[in-house]
Amino acid sequence: MADIKTEYGKYNVTQIFAHMNLNTECSLVDIAPTISEILHINMVKPHGHVLNQITEYARENKTRKVILIIVDSLGYALYQRLTESMPNLQKIANSGMVFKCKSPADHTTPAIASIFTGYYPEEHHLYYTDDIYKERAKDEYNPKIKTIMEWGHDSGLKSGIVIESLGAESLAGRIYGTFGIPDSDDIIEYDKKVAENTVKALKSNPDIIAVHIRAIDRFAHMSDTWDDIKYSAGSVDENIGTIYSHTRDDSLFIICGDHPIHSGKKWLEMTGKNDAENYHNRYVALIVGSKK
Ligand SMILES: [Zn+2]
Repeated sequence: MADIKTEYGKYNVTQIFAHMNLNTECSLVDIAPTISEILHINMVKPHGHVLNQITEYARENKTRKVILIIVDSLGYALYQRLTESMPNLQKIANSGMVFKCKSPADHTTPAIASIFTGYYPEEHHLYYTDDIYKERAKDEYNPKIKTIMEWGHDSGLKSGIVIESLGAESLAGRIYGTFGIPDSDDIIEYDKKVAENTVKALKSNPDIIAVHIRAIDRFAHMSDTWDDIKYSAGSVDENIGTIYSHTRDDSLFIICGDHPIHSGKKWLEMTGKNDAENYHNRYVALIVGSKK
């Protein structure tokens, strides 16, 4: 199979031209620098690279606001299996593009920290939520642990976050709007609150808002059936739909998984070679689209 080399590395030709979706490899650390380019946010250059396909798309579609939604456990292979259960996400993907994106971690906190900061876990050292506090205590102004929402805030933009309470607390006073959702045994209800609070947050017209939706991850841990996973994906999609319908027309949607599904072994026994490859390479879906 032919490979071509670009400024971003070597890509497989069949992957590039598979269909209108882009299956080029990227990493979750590329998201923060890409957003900084789109919203003209000054940030100390992190490890990740700007994804030109996204910045060009944002320019062409004249998007001015960024809605960053992290869908916990949305691996790339899983996303492909769940497309029918996620019509809102499909609609957004069809308006833009889908990347096969490498996650730098297999757990939520380090992966999300990489998405927000543009650094790998071995650089940001944020493995547990408590680490965020410890790092901050050590050096409050350490740019490596500054999130793209904070860089945005420092550049005069309105940034918001809707995430579990502890995560939100770590950003309180550092950005415009922090919406903490108390953790709950009822993850469907929890996600619903995330969507409702995002709708509230959108009323202040933020330039960038980051949101974390968790039902698929919880169901992957608790359950043994694909029907349950599909049900959780349907619920996640409904919440994405709620958020989508309350955004402005000039919004750019960046929606990604944080790591492939946990409890991999249990699920891999039911799936095929592609899912196993996806799991071992830690590929997640990165979906970019707009309302155009
Ligand atoms: Zn996670």
